[in-house]
Amino acid sequence: MKKSVKYILVTAACLLLAACAVFLFLPHGGIASMAQDTDAAVTYFTRFGTTLTLEGEAEITGIEITAVKLVMTDDDAMYCLPCEYTLEGSRVSFRTSEKTDGGIQLEGLPEGKYILLLRAEGTEGTKETVRYYPLVNGSEYEGITYWSLSCPEGTRRIDFYFGESILSGRKTACLDVQKAPLPEDVYDAVLEVGHGGDDPGAIGWLDDEMYTEFGFNHPIAMEVKRLLTEKGYKVALTHEDDSDPESYGPHGRAVLCNELRSKYSLSIHCNASAWGDYRGTEIYAPGNSDYTFPCLLSEKVVACGSGEISNTDYSSESYYMAAKGVWVRLYNEDDVKETNAEAAGYGAKKPYENLTVMKTNWYYMIREVGGVSTGAYTDGRHSGWPANPYWNSNDTCEGYIIECDYVDNPVSLQRLLDHPLDYARGIAEAFCEYAEMIRNDTPGEIPDWKKGL
Ligand SMILES: [Zn+2]
Repeated sequence: MKKSVKYILVTAACLLLAACAVFLFLPHGGIASMAQDTDAAVTYFTRFGTTLTLEGEAEITGIEITAVKLVMTDDDAMYCLPCEYTLEGSRVSFRTSEKTDGGIQLEGLPEGKYILLLRAEGTEGTKETVRYYPLVNGSEYEGITYWSLSCPEGTRRIDFYFGESILSGRKTACLDVQKAPLPEDVYDAVLEVGHGGDDPGAIGWLDDEMYTEFGFNHPIAMEVKRLLTEKGYKVALTHEDDSDPESYGPHGRAVLCNELRSKYSLSIHCNASAWGDYRGTEIYAPGNSDYTFPCLLSEKVVACGSGEISNTDYSSESYYMAAKGVWVRLYNEDDVKETNAEAAGYGAKKPYENLTVMKTNWYYMIREVGGVSTGAYTDGRHSGWPANPYWNSNDTCEGYIIECDYVDNPVSLQRLLDHPLDYARGIAEAFCEYAEMIRNDTPGEIPDWKKGL
């Protein structure tokens, strides 16, 4: 063989090897090859309790859309996440759910490193087609880090951010789900002990003996903490002594749960009415949410403690029973006017922009712990109380108020006296059962997503 021919062959072999190496190491196939040139944008996202909700939009052309899905993939498996969408011409608006807490259940995510994409299914001419659009950050927020509820199998850290991951240079929303111990200052739940100090809460009388609401709230909350801790959960109380912590300052009633990156704030109270003829359990929940957990709280507190759902007959457009045993109270027009007038009296220069009729939650232990998800507005413009540092946060805690029973009704008061800790057992049972339920709420897989790849 001539030297020059040998040289050409060797060079050709080297080039072939180099090409193979480039081919091997450059991303090819997989989801990277299927991602479209145009992006979808996430315009808003929140972490509320244990769920992540997303909203966004995309311009999708050249395809007759039959379905839009939000998916999560590690290039191996693809999972379908909750998604609702509307189409206006080529404009797609999507969201995980219209419910405040109806988004991606973070507790149920399988471990792994995933990217999130918008998947458009449809037809191109006569051909069926599937397209994927990276999700870029078009919101005012950065990412979110979430630590899962304590669990015997180990806790997990979940990072939601906008990064490159397996998309070779393209940015999209990412979810990294990995085992990690819970940091010392991260808790599962905070129990707000209703009242204390100079404020005893509601008052009831039986056989000339006076009973205070705090006198029941405190031992019930302590028992819930004991029972949940025994089950391996990390629980903090707003106050363990007979004091009355403020609402919004450091470690305040409506602040501690977010300082501790807790998933839940459970306010433990007992009720009273002007006439003393109401009895039974009432659970208060955020408006426009999924009521599975508060329904379970109602069911268990009734079964273990009160024996009956409250017979309160108060009802209006902004204050109503949203599910069995679960009430929602929202700001109505008068409430909004009254609150703004009060704020003006305390030196507020302008009305609260985000205090919205029929959307903002009325009870501060639901509204303020949920930040933007529940319409928190205590931003410090009112000199009567300090700002809630989380009023405008998109990374917050889900709050419920448990009115165990009525202290001013003799039947109710008697059962509170007879077996107060059974109410605690009901709360703890509901918590454990619900935690188990959401851990099993895993997203469904799309089996043949690689078809045609
Ligand atoms: Zn109370």
